[in-house]
Amino acid sequence: MILIGLTGGIGSGKSTVSSLLAKRGAVIIDADAITRELQQRGAPLLGVLAERFGAHIIAADGSLIREELRNIAFSDADALKDLNKIVHPAVATEMDRRMEEVRNTDKVVILDIPLLTENPRKGLCGIVVVDVPVEVQVARLAEFRGMKEEDARAVIAKQATREERTKIADQVIDNSGDLESLQVQVDAVWQWAQQLPPATEDAGTRESKTSPNENP
Ligand code: ATP
Repeated sequence: MILIGLTGGIGSGKSTVSSLLAKRGAVIIDADAITRELQQRGAPLLGVLAERFGAHIIAADGSLIREELRNIAFSDADALKDLNKIVHPAVATEMDRRMEEVRNTDKVVILDIPLLTENPRKGLCGIVVVDVPVEVQVARLAEFRGMKEEDARAVIAKQATREERTKIADQVIDNSGDLESLQVQVDAVWQWAQQLPPATEDAGTRESKTSPNENP
């Protein structure tokens, strides 16, 4: 496999870029999507979370009340630490499992990891950063997610800066323009990715422990 790390700030356009790459034939392993899947109604991880944080975080239909969990995690540093200790290894294991499935193929595999700058991975064949000015991030999060400006800015302030991210990038996608401009850049990234040498045996494993301040 050719293993590419894809990252960018909240609302920068990672999922949009991932789906454009998927259309071109890439395999996408999306950390956020896996996190959501593992916390779906009835998932075993919910039992573990309820044991630590209380049964009131689970709704009558068995689904997770995210708001409730978020409130607990953000009002108590130990709770956030414990939450990360429960969720991160489960997500990591599932990401590893999916990587192993394609390791011995010639596919281009995209690891979509929002906090890749903060939590580096070994042996990536390349890193793609989706970059937008903070004002564009805030505007898109408000328009498409209904997020309050101050909330968007608070999350952005906790993440790596644009400079920190672009420093680790092999390819920077400027997503401040329209979707047509994005398509052109994704085409170029796809061409670049396909000619990279394949990943080594341990590629994709974490270089250090996950950051304690990740969002639940
Ligand atoms: P998150 O960090 O929350 O996972 P993300 O980085 O994956 O977000 P997307 O979900 O891809 O970002 O994009 C955020 C929003 O902006 C989406 O609604 C998407 O449709 C929109 N968007 C992305 N790129 C553009 C663009 N070039 N022009 C207009 N809207 C865009």
